[in-house]
Amino acid sequence: MQIVFATNNLNKLKEVQALIPNHIKLLSLKDIECFEDIPETENTIEGNAIQKATYIKEKYGYDCFADDTGLEVEALNGDPGVFSARYAGEQRNANDNMDKLLKALKNTPTRNAQFKTVVALQLNNQQHTFTGICKGEITKTKQGEQGFGYDPIFKPTGYEKTFAEMDLSLKNSIGHRGKAVSQLVSFLNL
Ligand code: IMP
Repeated sequence: MQIVFATNNLNKLKEVQALIPNHIKLLSLKDIECFEDIPETENTIEGNAIQKATYIKEKYGYDCFADDTGLEVEALNGDPGVFSARYAGEQRNANDNMDKLLKALKNTPTRNAQFKTVVALQLNNQQHTFTGICKGEITKTKQGEQGFGYDPIFKPTGYEKTFAEMDLSLKNSIGHRGKAVSQLVSFLNL
């Protein structure tokens, strides 16, 4: 069996590949010769995941799944949420995003936050979604070199390390994307 994972993000591809059984071939957008930016114009994480998966199915004809993720910060009423990628501007720069968030939380009493991933699956003309949440807190400084995005400033509940200080298998076993993709794997009975 093979299935398309509709992402251009090589970090996501690496994480998801590690969660999918070896006999399943994960095709990237490059593999299906999709070199365009897929629209992400909805105002919810779920809406964007569905939009990406539907776009690939309609335009390229492949069954596929897509992931959309946001970081929801309690003291900011759930922001940056669906706007996490562009939080500090259109350049979508991870360091700028983290700096802006650390600044926004400078004087807040709580640093609680959660990552939310929605995986949308488009299979045999039916749509399914799987949600994974990982609760934690935003650290005061950036810590660690691994992972991507906001990983250096997110410490999952019960751990003394940020995601960027964990190896891939630990992040996958407790993280938002791992939880959503595990549900996908069970659903597909892989
Ligand atoms: P998107 O799902 O690619 O739209 O990601 C939204 C934003 O969240 C981007 O800034 C990503 O870098 C960030 N992001 C997505 N997944 C993760 C993650 O697992 N860890 C840290 N940041 C992430």
